[in-house]
Amino acid sequence: MPRLADLAPATAQALELAGAIARGTLQHPDGEVLLAGRPEVLSRLRDLADQRLRSRPAEYDRVFGDLLALAGQYHWSAALENFADDFYTVPCPHCGAEVTIAIGAYGFYSAIRDWDRGDVERRELLPAQVEELPDPGRWMHATAVRDGQQRIAEGIRHLFGRAECPTCASAFSVADAYTSANLPPALETA
Ligand SMILES: [Zn+2]
Repeated sequence: MPRLADLAPATAQALELAGAIARGTLQHPDGEVLLAGRPEVLSRLRDLADQRLRSRPAEYDRVFGDLLALAGQYHWSAALENFADDFYTVPCPHCGAEVTIAIGAYGFYSAIRDWDRGDVERRELLPAQVEELPDPGRWMHATAVRDGQQRIAEGIRHLFGRAECPTCASAFSVADAYTSANLPPALETA
């Protein structure tokens, strides 16, 4: 990582590789401890990724994912696609029903996925107001807005917003439900 941080200002691939390493390391149960050993290297790489995003590169989505990984947000770095046509499956925290969340070109809704009939009983998602966004959604949203990435910014407002369960009609936080359903094994027993 220190070597990649030296190379990254001149070489885009070095930054990409550093992002991939951070993502891979954070998948490991001790990953955060491993990365925390050299905070100044991570912070340099993070600044470089942020600078690169400001230049609005064609591969913005990927660099955005790299920035999330370098900032220790492994979970969202791995979860986020590009909000073009993302689907997440989360259990309703109230009744346990398996709820499909769509964020992207197919719409912004919660539904029950039926293999024959598609997504049925759709309910519109309730996006978070910008001032209500919890971290890290607030920071992610601000970064996307700064760089003119409306699709990502809107996707984040929906991901960190609320969904209505089609089965029991209770509303729940999409990000919280997704997070508790996808905790790394090491954290599940904590
Ligand atoms: Zn429910």
